[in-house]
Amino acid sequence: MQFRNLKQQYQELKNQMNKAIINVMENADFISGQEVKQLEQSLASYVGIKHCITCGNGTDALSLALMAWNIGLGDAVFVPDFTFFASGEVISFAGATPIFVDVEEDTFNISASSLEKAIQVVLKEGKLIPRVIIAVDLFGQPADYTKIRKIADKYNLLILEDAAQGFGGMIGDKRACNFGDISTTSFFPAKPLGCYGDGGAVFTDNDEWAKLIRSYSIHGKGTDKYDNVRIGMNSRLDTIQAAILQVKLEAFQQYELEAVNKAAVQYTEILSSVVKTPILLDNYVSSWAQYTISLKDLKQRDELQRYLKSIDIPTMVYYPKPMHRQTAFVNKSKQMVDLENTEYLCNTVLSLPIHPYIKETEIEQICRKVKEFMNKYE
Ligand SMILES: *Cc1c(COP(=O)(O)O)cnc(C)c1O
Repeated sequence: MQFRNLKQQYQELKNQMNKAIINVMENADFISGQEVKQLEQSLASYVGIKHCITCGNGTDALSLALMAWNIGLGDAVFVPDFTFFASGEVISFAGATPIFVDVEEDTFNISASSLEKAIQVVLKEGKLIPRVIIAVDLFGQPADYTKIRKIADKYNLLILEDAAQGFGGMIGDKRACNFGDISTTSFFPAKPLGCYGDGGAVFTDNDEWAKLIRSYSIHGKGTDKYDNVRIGMNSRLDTIQAAILQVKLEAFQQYELEAVNKAAVQYTEILSSVVKTPILLDNYVSSWAQYTISLKDLKQRDELQRYLKSIDIPTMVYYPKPMHRQTAFVNKSKQMVDLENTEYLCNTVLSLPIHPYIKETEIEQICRKVKEFMNKYE
């Protein structure tokens, strides 16, 4: 069994995919070809936002947003303690200070009350200037942007939505990549919308920031290609990856997002009486980057994982270690608030196989084995 079956997806899309890739090779327009422009228009229109700027990966996308806002030394940027390393890494990379905030146990997303506490502690200390909240749409579910926006407005902060895992998710009729002042996503192969290598994108309604981000992503270029007006980076999406993503975005819109949601519903129906299953807020749609259950404690989680592995069912622990305890952050950040939910989740979460091509019978089999384990567990 596969944790995320990319081979099967290729088999389904093979004809269109091969045609799209060969077409790019024949045109030999490998950097900034027409497919890149077309993809940016399709992505902006799918998300429902004015500007989409594609770039090299989801980490660069976050860095580009912080560059556009001129975030650096002396600035405090708030980020969940329970996330992938890159969400926090880009803050230190920009020279600013990451302030780790606890998450909600139910949704795995940033806790509004912990966030406000952290902001107040930073203000009281008076050493750093609070500037940005990086909210992560963890495992596919958008964060609680109603609450986060209220706090952002109250303290005059900008919101950067890290939708690397959230692309396709919704709150009401609004898509993820819409909820930040700037929002970003990743096209790493295993993300909800993935390419065949690295890729990423930045989204915003703000004309000025969009122009800055485009410039920063191409060596700080000015209007004349050979007059560089700022120090930037080289972060572009390859034309081949854009062509691949056009085919994948079509499948994502047509049936993949629906299929993965159906899989999640089936899991929850069978498992909710046995283990803690993921909770969606009212009116929220997840893109199910992960389907993550919680066990009683570390011992039970690890034993279940070992048992499933022994019968060829792959699972993952996202994430085993909180951000604030990552070695790289030890001298770069100071704990400002309680992070107990994150500590607890790191010991108890387990992500099960999920993807748009998983079969009902596969989910039944996984659930049967989880149930068997739980029934026997002392
Ligand atoms: C994957 C991921 C990133 C980074 O994306 P890359 O394309 O791998 O650079 C950032 N944030 C989160 C939450 C992610 O899951």
